[in-house]
Amino acid sequence: MAVIGFIGLGNMGFPMASRLRQAGHDLRCFDTSAHALERAAEEGMSPRRSVAETVQDADFVITMLPSGAHVIKVLTREPLPIRADAVVIDCSTIDVASCAVFHETLQEQGFATLDAPVSGGVGGAAAGTLTFMVGGSETAFERAQPILKAMGKNLIHAGPAGAGQAAKICNNMLAGISMLAVSEALHLAKCLGLDTRKFFDIASTSSGQCWALTSYSPEPGLVPSAPSNRGYEGGFASELMLKDLRLAEQAAIASGSPALLGAAASSIYAMHCAAGRGRLDFSSIIQMLGESARPGA
Ligand code: NAD
Repeated sequence: MAVIGFIGLGNMGFPMASRLRQAGHDLRCFDTSAHALERAAEEGMSPRRSVAETVQDADFVITMLPSGAHVIKVLTREPLPIRADAVVIDCSTIDVASCAVFHETLQEQGFATLDAPVSGGVGGAAAGTLTFMVGGSETAFERAQPILKAMGKNLIHAGPAGAGQAAKICNNMLAGISMLAVSEALHLAKCLGLDTRKFFDIASTSSGQCWALTSYSPEPGLVPSAPSNRGYEGGFASELMLKDLRLAEQAAIASGSPALLGAAASSIYAMHCAAGRGRLDFSSIIQMLGESARPGA
């Protein structure tokens, strides 16, 4: 069993670290929140007082932090006592530029690095069914596989350093745009007098079929497991979707790739969050359409 230094025990990091602990690994962990560390101790992990104490002697160092700025601060500001043969894995969703700094800084110090963002949300983290999209060398990926397997069902080596983050922001841009498209279609169907369930049955078996419709319907009562049936609580917060849409926008500008629908989705989610709905699941965007409809028009 491996010694793992895990940093960032939030909504995602805590259940991911718990899976590793349950798989029998020696979990040393750190978070700036005292509450997170107390919870970790209750789960049989070993809380440490600093990042340096957490990474010392670890075979694998894993970070699950809010943004690129956090990853840079935690891993690259000063040399850490990481073992020369350790693999450093960042699972956070971060911007392309910070991801490059993460790889370059640690590789210059001789460490193997992987960017390994995830899809599957808090539920997937708790169930160990996350999808990992991984960027980095084949060798580092091979070494990390047994560890990632304890947290995820699908491990995909996307390509060299940065490829995991690239895949993640493209996927989330697609998810954000398709959630808006599904919401518009469901709303229009209702305005045209169609029965919502009948339209759902038709679109689910027609060319409109997609994950946002059949696995995560924004309209309550159609897909039992969807957050729309729980008042849009839990799931993937709109503010996190906005963060990822903005990362995609930045990447599109930097690479000269047109992302017109991505930019529109980013603006729409920004309005949604500004209206105080940032904590609600991103499928709650359908509520905005209902409010902007003109009754009797
Ligand atoms: P979160 O805010 O719940 O957790 C982040 C944790 O990092 C917190 O516990 C915080 O105290 C800790 N932290 C912040 N700065 C720190 C520091 N300097 N040192 C140590 N700990 C520090 O966020 P989350 O929902 O767990 O998301 C983490 C990452 O995963 C984000 O990049 C997010 O985009 C991504 N992600 C989230 C989801 C989701 O459904 N929540 C799904 C996929 C990917």
